[in-house]
Amino acid sequence: MMSFHLAERTLQEAAESTASLPASQLAHLHGCPLCQGRVATYQQLLTAAAHLLPPPFPLDFTARVLAQLPRAKPAFPWALSVVAVLVLGMVVVFLSLFGALLVQTFQSLATGLVTAGGILVAGRCLALLVRHRRQMRQLAFS
Ligand SMILES: [Zn+2]
Repeated sequence: MMSFHLAERTLQEAAESTASLPASQLAHLHGCPLCQGRVATYQQLLTAAAHLLPPPFPLDFTARVLAQLPRAKPAFPWALSVVAVLVLGMVVVFLSLFGALLVQTFQSLATGLVTAGGILVAGRCLALLVRHRRQMRQLAFS
């Protein structure tokens, strides 16, 4: 009497093909009527599943979901450029007015404090970029 039988996963694989079974499992399968019966049942299920009619409605709802999503508004790179030019102009005006004062202020500050602030800002920018990329990856539909 056999003390063990093949696992269900192995029986399912054997129903498709016995080529990948290890020799010990193949020997058990050849000598065990119970496992042979289970493999035969799985083969009948596979044959029946192969002859099933396709479902009456499409299972791919991607097109339907995409059709219901709001249309993306066109980007306005020219508006972004106008804003960038305005901000840049404000920065230039600010630096021309208060540049000397800023230089004195920064020279009086400890270099380490400025470096720590730069690292902090760079870290926040990196975290924002990572979060943005993750969110954009979630929007990919295929
Ligand atoms: Zn068995």
